[in-house]
Amino acid sequence: MNRPDPTCVTRFAPSPTGRLHKGHAYSALMAYRYAKTRGGRFLLRIEDIDTTRCKPEFTDGIFEDLKWLGLTWEEPVRQQSQHFDDYQVALQELKAKGLAYPCFCTRKDIEAEITKSASAPHGPDGPIYPGICRHLSGAERTAKTAAGTPHAWRLDLAAALKLIGEPLEWLDEVKGVIRATPEELGDVVLARKDTPTSYHLSVVVDDALQSITHIIRGEDLFHATHIHVVLQRLFGYPTPVYLHHGLMLDEGGQRFAKRNKSVTLESLRTAGVDPTALMAALTP
Ligand code: GLU
Repeated sequence: MNRPDPTCVTRFAPSPTGRLHKGHAYSALMAYRYAKTRGGRFLLRIEDIDTTRCKPEFTDGIFEDLKWLGLTWEEPVRQQSQHFDDYQVALQELKAKGLAYPCFCTRKDIEAEITKSASAPHGPDGPIYPGICRHLSGAERTAKTAAGTPHAWRLDLAAALKLIGEPLEWLDEVKGVIRATPEELGDVVLARKDTPTSYHLSVVVDDALQSITHIIRGEDLFHATHIHVVLQRLFGYPTPVYLHHGLMLDEGGQRFAKRNKSVTLESLRTAGVDPTALMAALTP
């Protein structure tokens, strides 16, 4: 029996880029049960900043599938695409502190630079950005901006860590106290060329705005937390407790993927699967 904790707030934050599958159901259920068994609150958030890949019909599908599973959540549901202004304000704060810089690189520029260097460091997200645009002069930045060269915004991690001045850590309910090593992700993108924010920026802003106390999500996002704690400190936000759960695997030992249509919750529902039995089977 879990100790009551009415201050506990959890969330499930899917991206509507496809229909939900059993792995999502498991993650949603973990976050839901965590809050409900403690007398806390459960929120649903739609992470649809990528307006080219996210589709309104998939958002509707998320509501439909989670209702079918018997979950309930607070209204209104925060939908990130309606809140780009909030992320702009946060980005502005980092720019004002000299912690963000414009990056004009194309994918090709980055690849070329990495190929050139003998020891291009790789992190869990692939090669670490080699810092090409970090070294541009003010005049070069102005000229490129004036020429209309599209640009993203990146975190100047070294400057951020210098400002913070001490090691960061977070409590992970599965792995214990984790010392953050954000260097493995480097100068992450804060705002993309085609979207005025990024996953890292918007998730950190929203978790704070929504007073999320416990972040329950798959271990595929474990590495992202190294950078999230940095952003939380820069903005003066509290660091929530994290629980990165193992990912569900299908019969073939593969992770569920949105592209594998056969395991969507929609297809299970259409096939007449009983949601209560499904939920019981997913119970950790
Ligand atoms: N929107 C992210 C996803 O669908 C999850 C974000 C999070 O839980 O931090 O993978």
